Amino acid sequence: MKYIASCSFGKDSLAMILTIIEHGLPLDEVVFYDTGMEFQALYNVRDAVLPLLRKNGIRYIELHPDRPFLYDMLERPVKGRERRGYGWCGGLCRWGTTCKLKALDRYAESIGAKVYVGIAADEHDRLKKERKPYKIFPLASYKLTEAACLELCYAAGYFWEEDGGAGVVRLYDILDRVSCWCCCNKNLKELRNIRKYLPLYWEKLKDLQRQLERPMKGFYKGQPRGVFELGERFMKEEAEHEKAQEIPAPGQALDV
Ligand code: SF4
Repeated sequence: MKYIASCSFGKDSLAMILTIIEHGLPLDEVVFYDTGMEFQALYNVRDAVLPLLRKNGIRYIELHPDRPFLYDMLERPVKGRERRGYGWCGGLCRWGTTCKLKALDRYAESIGAKVYVGIAADEHDRLKKERKPYKIFPLASYKLTEAACLELCYAAGYFWEEDGGAGVVRLYDILDRVSCWCCCNKNLKELRNIRKYLPLYWEKLKDLQRQLERPMKGFYKGQPRGVFELGERFMKEEAEHEKAQEIPAPGQALDV
């Protein structure tokens, strides 16, 4: 029987790999599905982990989408629709996730492997949802919560540092989840941080929005919440915040 670990090289699945190695659980392969849309920091962490896998005799397998992610997003002809491409991925339309899960399951089933999945002990709903009998959840067995996973990775020297042009930041300091940089599941706090700390990725999001009709975050009270509208909103918020921070010089009257 082969044992493989599905690893996105985010904090949970990486903590799972480290735990498996630490406890000497059987592990033949680590499988990474590369959407091609990950943050550079994630690829850097992957590259830093590969020697550890080699040292422990674990094979590294990389799977890829059948077609480039951006082709499906922007150009793929879609039945019954005039416009091409599936559009933003996320929310109810997680076409990228569907491709990813199918490819990983297909691979595991083709070799009849048991699969370790990195769902943290405190992700109760996700743990309940997974039904395939060949899947194993070591993080739940070792009671490792999401916070514990991050701590474990940091202690092992993996930090997901990204230099987006405005200095180096750790992705987990500014994002709740490290997923594809173009994921429309990102909340407003995360998008605000991307604009502020990773301006190069913000430019990439603008570039995608120029090519997509649907606003990245849909509509709110009838108003579009695309990358450009959000950018303006964040800019205004920053200006207001800066104004509020201004401390009047001694003797200067307050502008009320
Ligand atoms: S992380 Fe987001 S963009 Fe990437 S595949 Fe999943 S839902 Fe799609």
